[in-house]
Amino acid sequence: MLLKKISESFQKHSKRNAFCIDNTYYTYQQLAFAVSKIRKRLEMEALRGQKLVGIIAFESNDFYTYAAIYGSLFTGIGYVPINPDNPIERNNSIIQQTGLTTILTSKVDNLVKALVEANNLAVIVTSELPEVEIDYSCPTEKEDDTAYVLFTSGSTGVPKGVPISQKNFTAFIDAFFALGYTIDENDRFVQMFDLTFDFSVVCYIAPLVIGACIYPIRSGGIKYVSVYTTFEEHQITFACMVPVTISYLRPFFSEILFPKLKYTLFCGEPLYYDIALEWLKCTPNGKVINAYGPTEATVFCMVYDFDPEKGKTKSFNGVVAIGKEMDNMKAIIVDEHNDPLPQNEKGELCLSGPQVTPGYWKNDEKNYKSFFTLSTNGREEIFYRTGDLGTIDKDGDFFYLGRIDFQVKIQGFRVELGEIEYHVRNFTNIGNVVALPTQNKLGTTQLHLFLENYTGDFKEIGDYLATKIPVYMIPSSMSSIQLFPLNKNGKIDRKKLYELLTS
Ligand code: AMP
Repeated sequence: MLLKKISESFQKHSKRNAFCIDNTYYTYQQLAFAVSKIRKRLEMEALRGQKLVGIIAFESNDFYTYAAIYGSLFTGIGYVPINPDNPIERNNSIIQQTGLTTILTSKVDNLVKALVEANNLAVIVTSELPEVEIDYSCPTEKEDDTAYVLFTSGSTGVPKGVPISQKNFTAFIDAFFALGYTIDENDRFVQMFDLTFDFSVVCYIAPLVIGACIYPIRSGGIKYVSVYTTFEEHQITFACMVPVTISYLRPFFSEILFPKLKYTLFCGEPLYYDIALEWLKCTPNGKVINAYGPTEATVFCMVYDFDPEKGKTKSFNGVVAIGKEMDNMKAIIVDEHNDPLPQNEKGELCLSGPQVTPGYWKNDEKNYKSFFTLSTNGREEIFYRTGDLGTIDKDGDFFYLGRIDFQVKIQGFRVELGEIEYHVRNFTNIGNVVALPTQNKLGTTQLHLFLENYTGDFKEIGDYLATKIPVYMIPSSMSSIQLFPLNKNGKIDRKKLYELLTS
């Protein structure tokens, strides 16, 4: 059904713009031509039994990369985005794990050549394929076939593959539209994510279904500046962002006004109450939505409409609620024995439903640890353990309380790092604050506090914290760094901060 909708959109909106890339517009018809060329070529691969194809995902502003994604979906071949800027070892591991033999790329540069040589790959250069007639036909969608495989970092150092089936993919898009946002072909969607990050999926699929135009941000330069100029120049109406993006724009909030912005969907990280409130002032006609979900449950599967005008401002430790499940999904909070917990108890947030991946790619050990079956009313349901700590209130709204692995024990006491960070943020007004556990010479756990660009007195923070939290929770050391390291998804890179501590 999803492909049918996209195909109808290609035909209905053929004269409208599908993409605006670095100020060049591409109509739906031009996109349909590019997709058809790739499709034609990929159909030969499908005949040879190919189930997956690699797509070299250059910057998020490459027209043929998007065409390659749609082309593989229309051929029924799953795609594996590969960012050539990532370490070659990591990319080799992805290629080997998925057994890729063919990659699609819009250009062949040295990085691509190195990957091709190392893995003996066949290359299809998407920008150089022969012209063909537009093919609007849709293949029969097979629920269990893989739509895409994304790789997330694995604790063992080997990236782990998350296959998303056609069923997962369609369930997500259906659930997204069931949220009832008032969007149509006149909307303008920004796209600012690396294509190996699944939040990008909603930015390049949802607009296509309704015939809207996608505005990938310019590559190069400072990302936050590109975000700002794209919003400003193109009067963006729908934006998906990770919260850290607006914390970089925060010093300029008094000068920022985006009256055309209708929706800002935050996902991927905790959204803090105070910054959400301030952002609403920059988007006086906009709505703020806090979306939650891991890659394993297809993009996001829970949402909370943060709407002070309607009194919807729930938060916990200063983090906006993640709300309720989207259509057909189910969330529960469980204890360490996988037993569901009642309201207000804290436990691990687990997810079930049509958006949940069928399981990690060829990784039985990880699957065994990450999934479990619960029997309710005689029905067996498979749940995915998110590793997130959560709780649910009497209205059925869920709250994110931190990562289970961010919970540390200090002197035998349980400490949620998020709680310390919350108080420090309140006191300093600094958005980016991270508390990390560290070992002293005696091997006991202590806490270190990182602040971004803090120029005040650390002692004042300690004094303030002493009024808010038990003494064992007060970090024993603190430091300020000018800019926090971010991972490729634009989130704060806690691992890098940790390396700074231990180096
Ligand atoms: P990823 O698979 O990269 O999308 O990361 C998923 C993880 O990001 C989740 O398990 C959470 O830890 C975190 N996350 C995603 N959305 C939110 C949110 N709205 N609030 C807090 N944490 C979030």
